[in-house]
Amino acid sequence: MNKLQLQGIGMTSQRTRSRLVQRLKEQGINDQQVLDIMGNTPRHIFIDEALSHRAYEDTALPIGFNQTISQPYIVARMTEILMAEGPLEKVLEVGTGSGYQTTVLAQLVDKVFSVERIKPLQERARQRFALLKIRNVSLRHSDGGMGWADRGPFDGIMVTAAPEEVPPELLAQLSVGGRLVIPVGGTQNQQLKLVIRVTDTEYETTVLEGVKFVPLLSGTIR
Ligand code: SAH
Repeated sequence: MNKLQLQGIGMTSQRTRSRLVQRLKEQGINDQQVLDIMGNTPRHIFIDEALSHRAYEDTALPIGFNQTISQPYIVARMTEILMAEGPLEKVLEVGTGSGYQTTVLAQLVDKVFSVERIKPLQERARQRFALLKIRNVSLRHSDGGMGWADRGPFDGIMVTAAPEEVPPELLAQLSVGGRLVIPVGGTQNQQLKLVIRVTDTEYETTVLEGVKFVPLLSGTIR
């Protein structure tokens, strides 16, 4: 990929990205750092070329294997909620997918650990991080419902696929004061939740808004 393709032209240009950022602001995204990063991150390289002209529409798009790259508004919203109390050092992401959310996080926190159950998606994401020279991301091919115990505890955990219930393993891998942002529920009735580990034994849950994510599935695909 040459420099122009990376920067984008026409439907993938900086101007198109700026329009997306304007829309995100209108929808209530306030965190300027998140807006700046999304304005500078080439979402079109996270999507198949045939769809790249739609990269800056505020919509989820297919990335193969029945999965989707999350809608920009949701990426912005989840990131803003995760970061709301200030900088984080170690963040776990469950569901690397295209790697777009990972890339946004990597520009905000010291270190991102990201797990994905579908190996080919993980490999594509890995290539994109290399292309963008993102070096503070560690990837693991596994069932992320289990978290990543030997790298925890985490100051932040972001889950980008929906389980029916919050996995207890993820709660256990949050540091005290740590924040978990997670969609919970079935396909028809999902809610975005924020869980804060207040003390060693106490968790505080806030229900934020209705969302629509692909399900968190168990097991892995080679
Ligand atoms: N943040 C990604 C979202 C991709 S969709 C993006 O914006 O591109 C959700 C991803 O979660 C899919 O790639 C799916 O394979 C993955 N996933 C689902 N269940 C999982 C699990 N138990 N462990 C790890 N990844 C999982």
